[in-house]
Amino acid sequence: MWIKAKLIKLKKINDYLFSFIFKSEINNFIAGQFSKIKFKINNIEIQRSYSYVNPPKSKFLEFYISRINNGKVSNFLYNSKPGFEFLITKKSFGNFNIMNIPNCNTLWMLSHGTAIGPYLSILRGYNKNFFIEKFKKIILIYSIKTSEDFFYKNIINNIKDKLNNIIEILVLTSSEIKKEYINGKISNLIYNGFLESYLNKKINTNDHIMICGNENMIKEIKYIILKKYKKLNNYNNIFSYEKYW
Ligand SMILES: Cc1cc2nc3c(=O)[nH]c(=O)nc-3n(C[C@H](O)[C@H](O)[C@H](O)COP(=O)(O)OP(=O)(O)OC[C@H]3O[C@@H](n4cnc5c(N)ncnc54)[C@H](O)[C@@H]3O)c2cc1C
Repeated sequence: MWIKAKLIKLKKINDYLFSFIFKSEINNFIAGQFSKIKFKINNIEIQRSYSYVNPPKSKFLEFYISRINNGKVSNFLYNSKPGFEFLITKKSFGNFNIMNIPNCNTLWMLSHGTAIGPYLSILRGYNKNFFIEKFKKIILIYSIKTSEDFFYKNIINNIKDKLNNIIEILVLTSSEIKKEYINGKISNLIYNGFLESYLNKKINTNDHIMICGNENMIKEIKYIILKKYKKLNNYNNIFSYEKYW
């Protein structure tokens, strides 16, 4: 069922990233889920999916969106103004959420760019005890192109404070060398052993690995992990994915 939604605030982070904050009377959702929006461009109805960045029951809803070169919807939304009305699904979708993940030793959360969204919803959506009961440790690895993309720094710092002794957060810059950040791609840093020695932690059979991003990134990371940690090949369901495109 489609219901009305209205844009309240649009924050252009740079030429290719923006935060899209809106209101709508959607049903409650499970942190990590996405919804579909639709509206007309030049009289042609068009739909896209976006993940919630906000935790459930927030007054305002938020998407974190990449403006794609020649992308129809992302460019249209990037140039939209507060008051813009569109339709959204009342119900949310997807199984990329923590309720589907078994209790385990370390929960790895890997993402690049806007794919941080579901993790920001999940990590703000439950209290510390909930996480402690499910996991010994959570490792969030967030890759951005350059430091100017680090829009959710305050939110990430709040998550770090809330989950202080069970979470470790690493921010990587893939296209910029800066001393505050680790430089490189997630897959390379796993393959060359950097992350393992930096975190003093190997990926193990009693861990769970969530990956959010595009199909190539997901395939590449999964391939590298299974090549490096061969014993994981014998275990099903050690990975969960959310594929954006
Ligand atoms: C479950 C799900 C959740 C999603 N959540 C988000 C989200 O939270 N934030 C977000 O920005 N996008 C998200 N997406 C992608 C989004 O639905 C659109 O595909 C994206 O905004 C591009 O739409 P467009 O009309 O601008 O591009 P189109 O005109 O449809 O062009 C599509 C092409 O753009 C490329 N593309 C699509 N998405 C991206 C991207 N994120 N980065 C780089 N290239 C891309 C692909 O090559 C694709 O073939 C999600 C997709 C799915 C399936």
